[in-house]
Amino acid sequence: SGCRQQAGIQSACPYCGVGCGVRVQHRYQSGNLKTTTDVVGDPSHPANLGDLCVKGAALKESLSIPKRLLYPRVHGQEVSWAQATGVIAEKLKQTVAEHGPDSVAMYVSGQLLTEDYYVANKLMKGFIGTANLDTNSRLCMSSAVAAHNRAFGEDLVPVHYEDIGKAGLIVIVGANTAWTHPVLFRRIQQARAANPDVRLVVIDPRRTTTAEQADLHLPVANDGDVLLFHSLLRHLMDHQALDQTFINAYCQGFEALAQEVRHEKYRLMACADALDLNRESLHTFFTWFQETPETLTLFCQGINQSANGTDKANAIINCHLATGRIGKPGAGPFSLTGQPNAMGGREVGGLANQLAVHRGFDADSVREVGEFWQAPKMATQPGLKAVDLFDAMYDGKIKFVWVIATNPVVSLPDSCKVAEALSRCGCVVVSDISPDADTAAFADVLLPAAGWGEKDGMVTNSERMMSRQRAFLPPPGEAKADWRAICEVAQVMGFHGFDFASVADVYREYAALSGINRDAPYLFDISELASMSDEDYANWQPQRWPLGRSSHLFSDGRFPTARGRANFVLPASAEEAGDESSEHWWLNTGRQRDQWHTMTRTGHIARLAESETEPTVYMHPLSARKHQLEAGQLVCLKHAEQTLLAKLALDEGLSAKQLFMSMHWAGPFGFASRVNQMVAAVVDPVSGQPAFKSAAVSVSAA
Ligand code: SF4
Repeated sequence: SGCRQQAGIQSACPYCGVGCGVRVQHRYQSGNLKTTTDVVGDPSHPANLGDLCVKGAALKESLSIPKRLLYPRVHGQEVSWAQATGVIAEKLKQTVAEHGPDSVAMYVSGQLLTEDYYVANKLMKGFIGTANLDTNSRLCMSSAVAAHNRAFGEDLVPVHYEDIGKAGLIVIVGANTAWTHPVLFRRIQQARAANPDVRLVVIDPRRTTTAEQADLHLPVANDGDVLLFHSLLRHLMDHQALDQTFINAYCQGFEALAQEVRHEKYRLMACADALDLNRESLHTFFTWFQETPETLTLFCQGINQSANGTDKANAIINCHLATGRIGKPGAGPFSLTGQPNAMGGREVGGLANQLAVHRGFDADSVREVGEFWQAPKMATQPGLKAVDLFDAMYDGKIKFVWVIATNPVVSLPDSCKVAEALSRCGCVVVSDISPDADTAAFADVLLPAAGWGEKDGMVTNSERMMSRQRAFLPPPGEAKADWRAICEVAQVMGFHGFDFASVADVYREYAALSGINRDAPYLFDISELASMSDEDYANWQPQRWPLGRSSHLFSDGRFPTARGRANFVLPASAEEAGDESSEHWWLNTGRQRDQWHTMTRTGHIARLAESETEPTVYMHPLSARKHQLEAGQLVCLKHAEQTLLAKLALDEGLSAKQLFMSMHWAGPFGFASRVNQMVAAVVDPVSGQPAFKSAAVSVSAA
């Protein structure tokens, strides 16, 4: 045909924590005229081996969002970058001078690349002197982070994707993996097709697409997970199925936990009754777990997005520690991350309660990081977590905020209060690719960000695999990579240490910083990458950290705690399962298969929009009949002062008092239907992660 096709630029999908590799192929006609660009799965990437889900397969269409932000704006007027940067630097300086460093904040995103995260963290925690830098990853996996820290001494995910092919039992808790991590779910399906003895158990109040494909679905009552996993531990104890050698040699704190689970309420029958589960089904699950050394437990937002998400995650980890099912092929607790670089943000220190490179705010860490950065003003204590940060803004304590690559007006709970907080804030800077993002409407300064395909950097997926996102298009107008925008503001403020020549330069410094962990018991140390050349960085192929290690974390039974032992964690208090007899409905929020976050990058793609064309709330058909409601009619949800309108649809997978609504609706169409208006800002006391899965609402015909 006269066309030729490039071998392809390797990059990574920007949508979810599976972290699939893609190849971007330009086709050229003779005369070097580029005709089309294709985005296909990368067969050489270990995360997906060439596979893509429907969102990943539509990446090409996502490149042309209807409206791009092309030039910086100050109060709606287009200005030069120099002017915008000057305004931000001046406002930051002035606010800190008048009200102190804790009066300013950044709210960033698991969409940021590691290098963006690194310079944002360095500016705030080393040079402005506040740890008020938090990320929307707080909403997604901070409870898993806290649980890892409590159990292992460090935020470590001890499972590899290859373990899926080695497991005999796969347990999925609180996750609709078939929709939210589709390529990973396909690996599970392939493992089961290859070996029909591999069992799949799904624990979820909803009979989701994932649950429908399981050998056993346990429709546990809302927020019953600690009770369920304590009861499993009790069963394992009663049946002499613990690995006492592992417990004695490598763990601590078991006796207190064992004493707790001896309580009557953790007997199988009591647990089944309390959680409205079939006793035989629960017994089957317990028996399968007892009999299968190669057990993997995958968990996600049904665990993390709870008022006790950290305790739930620790209850799962406890069962793996007690059976020695960790650090071994095909076995372990596996926290799935939602966003493409949530894990990279955790590594850098993108959460307000982390300092950097897996270090906290102890005196040694503050000193060592401060010396490395030659920082004039180190933050010495944790900053405000997302919900607290916007509450402080509402109360007038945060007077400057820079929001990057996230849409908190839609995605945070109690979203109307978040909007009010932003309108009260003295100066709001928003970096985004679109001028129409809901949060952009509150911006005093709006910065055009380079998007996927226009910028370079590193991301880390759910299994600690570091991959490169690569630029293959020029940014439109004056759009710019976030790390550059942040560094320019830092330089105008007179701070040294932000004159990076390239994104590779940023990465090398970050890698070097992780070398401070070398003499400490931390496992996050990528400092050998500090000396990599520009060429090595350009040609980087996916690798998991710890680098050069193929065996599992903890395979030697050593954990990075002070005593080198893993901790059994006893939850602070027993949870109360959602009361089905209460007059409220329980509103569960989550993803649709085909949409991404607040739809800013996927809402315009026709084939992705087909699966849910308007804001929709789902209810069991019998419940609808009982309340004289019909599919297709408009219903009104109420919570406190807030109301929400949506179309009613029926779903037999829900229990009698449960509702489900997707989290995506935003923008003008979703204005009256942002589901987080209905969700009170209840957070886990340890992690600060909000609960999004069981909001109490009322429902009536509109
Ligand atoms: Fe992208 Fe996740 Fe789909 Fe892979 S599974 S293609 S990373 S959205």
